Amino acid sequence: MPAHYDLIIRGGACVLPWGIEQTSIGVRQGLIAELGVSFDAEAAETIDATGLYVLPGLIDPHVHLRDPGDPAVESVPTGTRAAVLGGVVAVFDMPNTNPAIVDAERLAEKQAYVERQAWCDIGLYVGGTKQNIPELAALETGRGVCAIKIFAGSSTGNLMVEDDEHLERVMLSGHRRIAYHSEDEYRLQARKPMFKSGDPYACHMEWRDEEVAFLGTRRLMALARRTGRAAHILHVSTAQELDYLKDFRDIATCEVLVNHLTQVAPDCYERLGGYGVMNPPIRDERHRAAAWAAVHNGTVDTIGSDHAPHARAAKERPWPDCHSGLTGVQTLVPVMLDHVNAGRLSLSRLADLMSAGPARVYGVLGKGRLAAGYDADFTLVDMGRRRRIEASWIASPCGWTPFDGKQVTGWPVATIIRGQAVMREDEVLGAPRGRLVAFAR
Ligand SMILES: [Zn+2]
Repeated sequence: MPAHYDLIIRGGACVLPWGIEQTSIGVRQGLIAELGVSFDAEAAETIDATGLYVLPGLIDPHVHLRDPGDPAVESVPTGTRAAVLGGVVAVFDMPNTNPAIVDAERLAEKQAYVERQAWCDIGLYVGGTKQNIPELAALETGRGVCAIKIFAGSSTGNLMVEDDEHLERVMLSGHRRIAYHSEDEYRLQARKPMFKSGDPYACHMEWRDEEVAFLGTRRLMALARRTGRAAHILHVSTAQELDYLKDFRDIATCEVLVNHLTQVAPDCYERLGGYGVMNPPIRDERHRAAAWAAVHNGTVDTIGSDHAPHARAAKERPWPDCHSGLTGVQTLVPVMLDHVNAGRLSLSRLADLMSAGPARVYGVLGKGRLAAGYDADFTLVDMGRRRRIEASWIASPCGWTPFDGKQVTGWPVATIIRGQAVMREDEVLGAPRGRLVAFAR
């Protein structure tokens, strides 16, 4: 009797944790049942992956879907649709919505809502504030919660814990790894009067300078060591921090953004104006090179998009009144595949940074590798496909991307989540069936 599966992905070059092997994968009941299924095995559905690479489902651990907020800019249904079009099987959504996700009631609403509306699987950050510190230990073990997020420096929204006393109290409340936006709020405020409305967009990286970021990370590392509480530093943007963090691997993991690996100042400000403005800022070539060096030497644990859409009108205001944040969940995988084709990293390292990495850092259960018993999440990519990224392809209602017009080689051609093909060849299939990601508590 030949073996029978719900789905077989046949003949692809599979990026396994131990290397790339041409093999066929059998799926039953949403899980990977077998690697290396035989040629006579049968399945209700077969996907021919000949000539394609089969990656473990890629995860974007840093998105702002603005929901609740402004659906004319972005929402859970539109942002997760963008994710699956871009080859992403799960996103971790930030809490600085309007209203923010900072208490049990808002979290319960969001948990129920995303399981009706999300096209991909989803993890939820809960925001830490000075007011909700006593509740954080309970909130961080909620269903689908990936981490507590602390804004130690101001960005979009009004969540902030900037002083050492409150940061230390946050670290002493709960036990899971905390995700930080690390910029020093005091230095940010002190430098603000040096600039005026209408200054060049490139002033963004002078206001939020290297020391703003480095000082923030030094303070957080000192507190993390003292309290013993694990930290994940989001969007590390400076050579100094990446070097410094190497001495804190007992307590710290870190993320680098695709933007900081791809875009560079002053070009981004001259060419894109407000559409190049994000926090922490895109900096000069020295920092981009340092980010790549940190990818190569293993310092970087995860890569995210920091997908943070805003209305065009808000991006087109003069600096510093233009909003900070860039659309990115749909372009993350294509831009990273282009880096693979350019020889900047291997597909195995890409899978490590974009699937195994987020699984390890956040404690995801059942995702992050192609192995029997894991969720049948796959991102199928055609490494030879050449395409131009265009704003018209962007599914987020804001309708723009800083990568508009960028020619890339390598493209996600299918997104499969728990055994269901959700996207094939730019077509979204079925209905929203995303679930909350499971995390070790
Ligand atoms: Zn962010």
